[in-house]
Amino acid sequence: MDTKEFDSRFFDLVSKAPGKTFLFYSNLKENVVRWSDSAVQYFGLSGSIIEDAYETWIALIHPDDVGDYMRDFEDMVQGGTPYHNCEYRMRNAAGEYVWVNCRGYLTFDEDGGPLWFGGIVTNLGQQSKIDAVTNLSTVYQFRSTLNCLLDKHAHGGVLLIRLENFKRINAEYGYDFGDKVLAEVGRKMTEDLNRDYTMYRMDGASFAVIMEGAGTEQVVEFKKRLEQTLHSFVINGELIHLRFRSAATMFPDDSEFLDQIQNNLFYTLDHAKIINTHDVVFYSKELYVRKTEAARLKEAIHDCVEDDCRGFRIVMQPIMDAKTGSCDCAEVLLRFSHPDFDAVGPMDFIPILESSHEIIEVGKWVIDQSLRTLAQWYEQSGRQRLPLRKIHINVSYVQFKDLTLLDFVKEKLEEYKLPHEVLVLELTESCRIEKTTFLSEMLQRFKEAGISIALDDFGTGYASLTVLKDIPADVVKIDHTMTRNIVDRPKDKALIEFIVTYSQKVGIQVCAEGVETAEALSIVKDAGADSIQGYYYDKPLEIDSFYNKYIENY
Ligand code: C2E
Ligand code: CA
Ligand code: CA
Repeated sequence: MDTKEFDSRFFDLVSKAPGKTFLFYSNLKENVVRWSDSAVQYFGLSGSIIEDAYETWIALIHPDDVGDYMRDFEDMVQGGTPYHNCEYRMRNAAGEYVWVNCRGYLTFDEDGGPLWFGGIVTNLGQQSKIDAVTNLSTVYQFRSTLNCLLDKHAHGGVLLIRLENFKRINAEYGYDFGDKVLAEVGRKMTEDLNRDYTMYRMDGASFAVIMEGAGTEQVVEFKKRLEQTLHSFVINGELIHLRFRSAATMFPDDSEFLDQIQNNLFYTLDHAKIINTHDVVFYSKELYVRKTEAARLKEAIHDCVEDDCRGFRIVMQPIMDAKTGSCDCAEVLLRFSHPDFDAVGPMDFIPILESSHEIIEVGKWVIDQSLRTLAQWYEQSGRQRLPLRKIHINVSYVQFKDLTLLDFVKEKLEEYKLPHEVLVLELTESCRIEKTTFLSEMLQRFKEAGISIALDDFGTGYASLTVLKDIPADVVKIDHTMTRNIVDRPKDKALIEFIVTYSQKVGIQVCAEGVETAEALSIVKDAGADSIQGYYYDKPLEIDSFYNKYIENY
């Protein structure tokens, strides 16, 4: 079969494909067009071949959009560009107007006159171009405008911003009020700022501006003006302060593809949040490499979890009784190694596991491994009692939200014939948690089952002493950021003393973590800490080393 026959069947077949895309090709000299069957149906055309092609099409375009369409078309026919890329409203067979995107390509004859023109019309549905709340252009418009610029090989920058405290405004004053704030943001962006650039509302509290022809300095400059404009204003008598994070990318230098530009921007914005800056962060190749590296790690971790937690292992760090100086507890810490990656620490992989919720599965694995190890140690040492009174296991908030955790823990204790009292669960993010009611109830059930609870990382984040009142904890662990510099910081010492005094009053034990030196040790002992953990005594040890040092020879 020759290619001619292939070609002649091509359109017939593709033309039948259902969906929201319509194909056409036309001879502009003859003003004849052939539409795909789907288009004939959807737009209620009189047939697939249409004479007076141009006029018939124009008659279906929304009167407000005809001008733009004709200008764009004329520009192409006059030889400005062989590409056509336009968005407008079309009336369909049901008589409704829908937004469509039309992209086409034009070829010219030997005399330079327009000849064949073909392309694809995509039904964008009834999406609107203007956001009802802010009166700014929508993300669809953002995409189509940027697309046109990229097609034209234009250059410039795109700035993306995200309001920082908007969630709190919504939570505090309600959604109606939040909408008013957004409306004012929209008004300020259009009226008070440079009108050379169009602002777009992307989603929720993020906005973008496309700056055709701009260089990096202009982007930075514009962001500063935006900051001044949005800094503060009054809504319903309330003074509102708005701050935002921002990211930018330059086109076509950073990328010439719409989706990539949008992805890069959102990624860079997340990065601005992670590194906690209010300056504009510009997208860069290095950032991209980091991102792909992080994605690779995430994938590798996922595969390992699926494969029965391959590559994971537990280590243990002794916790010393402050009075006797002997090791009667240990904290289990998770480790991960993978041949394709250099050292990956818990600070890297725990957040990944938390965000994918795989920490729930891995956490259960950690509990199983830890309790199994204890049971083995009983057997190995032939003792009825181990010097180890308790074993601490870290549990993230996501894990506590898993309603099967308690039963799982109980079953495992049963399986390995261990008393419930041996277990302490350390709630790792105690300080980042704002709502405590659910958590308190959950933890209470563990306590009723005889399992102790420790609040980890105390003294970091927003934690206040009132958490101790609300959360039924048995132990608080004072974070190493507080203990580490305690020797030079008398205020921290006073704070530790205060925490100890308060905790003792409400019957909570205090463990000081991160004790590295003899000086720090004597200070936390003086302050009244009940137990101590840190490099001064020992680093986290491999299971066998821990056994040799703290079980067998104790
Ligand atoms: P964390 O629970 O606060 O664990 C204590 C961390 O401090 C450990 O880091 C430990 O190696 C380190 N450390 C101990 N003594 C000292 C010291 O004297 N000085 C200093 N500078 N550091 C000390 P690691 O093992 O890297 O663990 C980091 C965090 O990862 C843990 O912090 C915990 O939040 C999380 N994590 C570790 N294992 C697990 C786990 O099995 N499940 C969950 N959910 N989180 C875990
Ligand atoms: Ca811990
Ligand atoms: Ca800690």
